[in-house]
Amino acid sequence: MGIIVQKFGGTSMGRWDRMDTDRLLQSAERVAKTKAQGHDVLVVVSAMAGLTNLLLELAGRVNPEGEPREFDTLASTGEQISIGLMALALQRLGYPSISFTGAQIGMKTDAAFTKARIQSIDTDRIRKAFRHGKIVVVAGFQGVTDEGDITTLGRGGSDTSAVAIAAALKADVCEIYTDVRGVYTADPRVVPRAKMLERISYEEMLELASLGSKVLQTRSVEFAMNYKVPVCVLSSFEEVPGTLVTEEAEDMERVMVRGVTSIPEAKVSLVGVPDKPGVAAKIFGDIAARNINVDMIIQNVGSDDHNDISFTVSRSDLKAVIAIANDLVKEIHAQKVQSDDKVVKVSAVGVGMRSHSGVAGKMFSALANKGINIQLISTSEIKISCIIAEEYAELAVRALAEEFELENESKELEQ
Ligand code: ADP
Ligand code: ASP
Ligand code: MG
Repeated sequence: MGIIVQKFGGTSMGRWDRMDTDRLLQSAERVAKTKAQGHDVLVVVSAMAGLTNLLLELAGRVNPEGEPREFDTLASTGEQISIGLMALALQRLGYPSISFTGAQIGMKTDAAFTKARIQSIDTDRIRKAFRHGKIVVVAGFQGVTDEGDITTLGRGGSDTSAVAIAAALKADVCEIYTDVRGVYTADPRVVPRAKMLERISYEEMLELASLGSKVLQTRSVEFAMNYKVPVCVLSSFEEVPGTLVTEEAEDMERVMVRGVTSIPEAKVSLVGVPDKPGVAAKIFGDIAARNINVDMIIQNVGSDDHNDISFTVSRSDLKAVIAIANDLVKEIHAQKVQSDDKVVKVSAVGVGMRSHSGVAGKMFSALANKGINIQLISTSEIKISCIIAEEYAELAVRALAEEFELENESKELEQ
């Protein structure tokens, strides 16, 4: 029998503020069942529901401008509570188990605090515990630098811990247990009749994740794709088959749009920029030098040898970008800087776009029919994205789900 990695998200661990241990025990039973079938089982756990938010809020109240290193020391503690509780729950069910922090299993990362990248994992202790018949419980979301500093992997990072460990152990499957039955064509909280997908390609899942579907952290899908780890997303509440994230199957191309998403962004415009060679290179060079990713860019043809250049960035980078843009305006003799932090990017994703045409037209008319103005557009081989006002985010996602027939006739029975 092979190795199975099972990851339990916050809601599968219960609410910390209600002293809710039922969920955790239920999740432990699921783990025990898999162990009883004869597999070696490694469990990755997240902090209990709401706990990471609370920790970050506390940090923000004490010192919002503090060192990211200390934020990580604090934010990582939620997962340490969870490993202790999960190992205790498994022992109560009669299953020998052992808990490990990220550092204890040599989950080495770079030193990019709050968004660290995994570099290597030492599987020796894990394999030794397996040889002793133990279930191994590992804290998600956290790692350690060569210097021994605690890091975290970015919000939702336990998914990445789980897939990376599954890759290192060459596990048969990485099961991601969460509060919905699997991956849907749209966030089921926004589109109640969204269809659940039986399977989805790594490539499409990567786009959906990076464009806002938080059911899997983007980096976890990158790991799964690079190391060919089969990932299954499923409910920790009901025993029903979930969604398999895997390599593309031939029939996948038949579907034009696999899913729709939305993600908050911020828009910055430089108004009255002199129209001459090298100006765009200067603007985006300065922004890149600060390690800030620019998403969409549009240049409007202006008059009198002047243009307007607009672009989007993630909201967390807006403050820094405005500061850079204000300096630039003086330097390049532009008119002014404008910003809008109330925009979202809505996207339609599907590998079928490679062989179908007309997706863009359908998307634009579905938005227009709801009176939604499109501010910026970008396309790639398998996705189309539009920037729109935040107030229309849910309306837009619902309109696109309807347009691309991503809904069931009746609402799926949930929980
Ligand atoms: P966990 O705590 O288990 O990691 P998350 O809250 O991070 O759970 O992710 C699960 C949530 O992702 C769901 O509750 C759902 O609202 C949201 N979600 C967004 N887009 C999708 C999608 N396309 N399919 C499924 N869930 C989605
Ligand atoms: N607890 C962390 C978070 O809330 C990691 C995770 O849940 O995956 O972001
Ligand atoms: Mg998550």
